[in-house]
Amino acid sequence: MTAATAFTHDVPPQRVVFASGALARVAQEAERLNIGRALVVATPGSGARLGNTVSDILGSRSAGLHAQAVIHVPKAVAETGLKAALETKADGIVAVGGGAAIGLAKAIALQTALPILAVPTTYSGSEATPIYGMTDGQRKITGRDAKVVPRTILYDPDLTSGLPAAVSAASGMNAIAHCVEALWVDGRTPITVGLASEAMRRFAQGLPVVVVDGSNAAARADCLIAAWLAGTVLCAGAALQHKLAHVLGGLGLPHAEAHAIILPHVMRFNLEAAPEAKRRLAEALGAGDPADAIARMLKKFPIPERLREIGFDLGKTEFIADEVAAGAIVAPRPATAGAVRDLLAAAY
Ligand code: NAD
Repeated sequence: MTAATAFTHDVPPQRVVFASGALARVAQEAERLNIGRALVVATPGSGARLGNTVSDILGSRSAGLHAQAVIHVPKAVAETGLKAALETKADGIVAVGGGAAIGLAKAIALQTALPILAVPTTYSGSEATPIYGMTDGQRKITGRDAKVVPRTILYDPDLTSGLPAAVSAASGMNAIAHCVEALWVDGRTPITVGLASEAMRRFAQGLPVVVVDGSNAAARADCLIAAWLAGTVLCAGAALQHKLAHVLGGLGLPHAEAHAIILPHVMRFNLEAAPEAKRRLAEALGAGDPADAIARMLKKFPIPERLREIGFDLGKTEFIADEVAAGAIVAPRPATAGAVRDLLAAAY
């Protein structure tokens, strides 16, 4: 079988504007969504500076900046964000930044159904999915809801020229993980498989370039397009890679870095059972062994290669193995507790 031959293609429609300098059109795009008072959501620091710029461009359509987004959207952060949206009487959200900013916008939209206009500046791909996530204590809760899908995505590759090498590398590996897993999930369709392969091809060429030279505009544009496609194919579903990253995220480990570290190990575990995925990845990566090719890419990147470097506590192994095994993942191979233990030991 070259792709799933029985499938349901359920990828939400979105308006996507992609251009160098597209940020200048943010007010126009907000108007198109009937947003008269947008709460601009961003992360603190450099995210807040960009958020301020966006708020200025929105002018009278801005209800103010809320620069308090944090990865994995802790419950208290979601509550503060909701309060800000209600207090400012916002009728829409402009999320500017990486997956953290988009994640907080989604948490607010889940409660309010406010429309989201996303201006992504990393490669997380969250802007293209109906998936939301929040953390409560040690557990990450995720779900799907049409309300959280950004109605419009405004991609301006110029905004990524200053993305630090480590963030480019980690969020790029996160997006690559979307592509890899999209090739073996049960919910794959001819479209998602094709998009995942195309995104892999673009990342294989472009990501090593932007990590070394962030100012390479052509490679930046290619990676941002690849990130869009990678987010789109995540809609087809997730399996061991995302389940494991999700449990690790609940324990407080950095999301994109955790994805990057476990990816070659999950690939080694799964690819023999997914020959079509292996063939497509080998072709996109120009390498006989896709897992080794990803491991080599990771080695060259300025991000951690081992779980022990990101504060993973081996004592949590049993908890994680049980959580993953409870998910009863079988595609393309059963993800048993034993398999997860071995994988964590190898990635440690
Ligand atoms: P992030 O949003 O935390 O961004 C990483 C860092 O880069 C932050 O400090 C941010 O301020 C900074 N940054 C972002 N853009 C920048 C730019 N252009 N220039 C300079 N600095 C910049 O991390 P991320 O990897 O983008 O996203 C991770 C989050 O996204 C996690 O919470 C994860 O769960 C979520 N996520 C969700 C989905 C989904 O479909 N729901 C998919 C992927 C990731």
